[in-house]
Amino acid sequence: MTDITTKTCDVAVIGGGPSGLSAAITLKQAGVKSVVVLDREAVAGGIPRHCGHPPFGLAEFKRILTGPEYAKRIVKKAQQEGVEIALKTTVVLLEKQGRLTLVSPDGTSQLLAKRVLLATGTRETPRSARFVSGNRPIGICNTGALQSMVYLKNMVPFRSPLVVGTEIVSFSALMTCKKAGIKPVAMIEQNTRPSVQWPVYYAASFFGVPLRRKTRIVEIIGGNRVESVIIAGGNGKEEKIPCDGVLFTGLFTPESSLARMSHLALDPDTGCPLVDNNGRCSDPVYFAAGNVIFQPVKVAGKCWQSGIRIARAIVDDLSG
Ligand SMILES: Cc1cc2nc3c(=O)[nH]c(=O)nc-3n(C[C@H](O)[C@H](O)[C@H](O)COP(=O)(O)OP(=O)(O)OC[C@H]3O[C@@H](n4cnc5c(N)ncnc54)[C@H](O)[C@@H]3O)c2cc1C
Repeated sequence: MTDITTKTCDVAVIGGGPSGLSAAITLKQAGVKSVVVLDREAVAGGIPRHCGHPPFGLAEFKRILTGPEYAKRIVKKAQQEGVEIALKTTVVLLEKQGRLTLVSPDGTSQLLAKRVLLATGTRETPRSARFVSGNRPIGICNTGALQSMVYLKNMVPFRSPLVVGTEIVSFSALMTCKKAGIKPVAMIEQNTRPSVQWPVYYAASFFGVPLRRKTRIVEIIGGNRVESVIIAGGNGKEEKIPCDGVLFTGLFTPESSLARMSHLALDPDTGCPLVDNNGRCSDPVYFAAGNVIFQPVKVAGKCWQSGIRIARAIVDDLSG
């Protein structure tokens, strides 16, 4: 059996999004010697990397930036402060005493940290967890996947999808569709009212997308790729709509799968790691910040501030 290498550090930050990076910067500025940010992606910056629209950065930089501009700026700031960022590094296991198991292109390794900060963010609910029946063709994704395809990979997964959901992120998805020349066939909301406030939902008609309330998706039909969907209105009447994709938006859940598999306690109502006012988890070596502890989800600026606040609590804790 090969030995697994074990490194050590003062604070390991899991997640290189706004909250993880602001925490890492604050820790370095407070004099914490070794701070390592671990991120599974090839580029740090978190969700804003693929939100190709403004407004980001107003509170942090007093400027209106697009998501990618903001992501670049926060990564640069972290690097300038001497934060070590380990990319393509996925944390797969959390254990007591701050022992983390990591998987990267170099293989499996362990990191022993005096304190660990979970800053793994949030994600939208995928089709599988929404129990939508039907075939399993190509052309079904969430907003995050659509944005990373369009903005980071220059790919277009569909031309005329059905958009499910009317949260703020659903309208961000419509902006991404417009940018990529995608024309959604409709946007559906199963409740009587859209989830966003008036007048935001009028943006659907601005984008030329019919908004249908009291309507839910029943079934997805297709061979290789999506060919149509069955939707049902408030009176239960079903209708077949031709389309070549389905975009499931919103219904955010905390990205807390790591905590779920570990010894850390979770909040039974939200699924977030259970934390006290200082962001400390049930194991005092572990802390959490950003959207992994927020339900409902918060914007990047709030997550940035959350990282700073929890990092200060970690500094106090380390200094006894
Ligand atoms: C699709 C989508 C669109 C959004 N659009 C906007 C928007 O337009 N404006 C806005 O203000 N907010 C938006 N948000 C909210 C967004 O969550 C916040 O803006 C902000 O990015 C949250 O910061 P964070 O640091 O908490 O998490 P994130 O930015 O999500 O960063 C988490 C990081 O953790 C990493 N990670 C997760 N698990 C592991 C692991 N096991 N090992 C290693 N790394 C891991 C991820 O790769 C990621 O880089 C959006 C969210 C989503 C999901």
